[in-house]
Amino acid sequence: LFIVFEGGDSAGKSTQVRQLAGWLKRQQVPFLVTHEPGDSWLGGEIRRLVLNPDSGDISSRAECLLYIADKAQHVVEVVKPALERGEVVVCDRYVDSTIAYQAAGRSLPADDVETIARWATQSLRPDLTVLLDVDPSQAVNRIADKDRIESAGEDFHRRARQGFLELAERDPDHYLVIPARDTVDSIARRVRHRVQELMTA
Ligand code: C5P
Repeated sequence: LFIVFEGGDSAGKSTQVRQLAGWLKRQQVPFLVTHEPGDSWLGGEIRRLVLNPDSGDISSRAECLLYIADKAQHVVEVVKPALERGEVVVCDRYVDSTIAYQAAGRSLPADDVETIARWATQSLRPDLTVLLDVDPSQAVNRIADKDRIESAGEDFHRRARQGFLELAERDPDHYLVIPARDTVDSIARRVRHRVQELMTA
């Protein structure tokens, strides 16, 4: 089972990943928690490059390809092996983030970005994507210590939010869209419920 958490910056993804991981542990279900960009040796290097505020100018297309390269490595090195071991993989960000941030956010052609990202990830799709939907006008203000992307401005984040929502609307069976303002407990409960359904399906 491949579960992905998506959403804008400061949507509370990592909190919910921890909640789900805690529950899986209590259920004694083997699982792996992982994160993009970054959770492969190559991803760590790419993360440093793309998020460092002191990096030189990175063109939109170059940035997009770096994020996609991170995914290509992450799928081969981390996600697929864990799925093959029979583990539930809980991943913080995946292809949707690239479509939302690099295509919608940076105004690159979404179809092209999606085609390249699907190719890079060998068309491996999550069984469920939990989209924590966050209002950028609140999120951007809450982030004190901003990285290169977080400081991109509210318009960028508004386009990214729209990008996430459109992906969810296109494939509602594989998405759970939850307002990020709901309480931690109520979000966690809804996620558990859906994951439990998938595990027993
Ligand atoms: O999820 P996390 O906070 O680690 O993401 C780090 C940064 O990378 C965030 O600012 C996020 O907006 C950005 N990002 C991006 N494009 C992606 C994935 C993440 O701009 N495809």
